[in-house]
Amino acid sequence: MNRSSRFLSILYVLTSGLLIWTAVLQYRYGPLWAGLLFTAAGAVPTVAVVRESVIGDLRRALTELTARPRRHGERLVDTIVRGELGAACCDRWWTSLGTDHDAACAHRARNSAA
Ligand SMILES: [Zn+2]
Repeated sequence: MNRSSRFLSILYVLTSGLLIWTAVLQYRYGPLWAGLLFTAAGAVPTVAVVRESVIGDLRRALTELTARPRRHGERLVDTIVRGELGAACCDRWWTSLGTDHDAACAHRARNSAA
């Protein structure tokens, strides 16, 4: 997580805390609907913190990917596609969006047992 992501995350947590505190005040002194509204609003910045974390992970993965040695003249997108195809289990797994395996695949038995 870089400095700007860390700053944003702190800001999100602070905002969430203030919204939750406002929700508590609304539950005690205000209408119930306002308390429910501020409770829901207090959860939204939590999603933003998770999003910042995911963005940081993606940025780190891209940095590692660009640092890998490539064949002469090979583009980065070729490296990404080759890596994704290499991570595929079998052809059936690839075409069924990961829900099924080839009959000869070693993962088939584990999938059918689940
Ligand atoms: Zn498979």
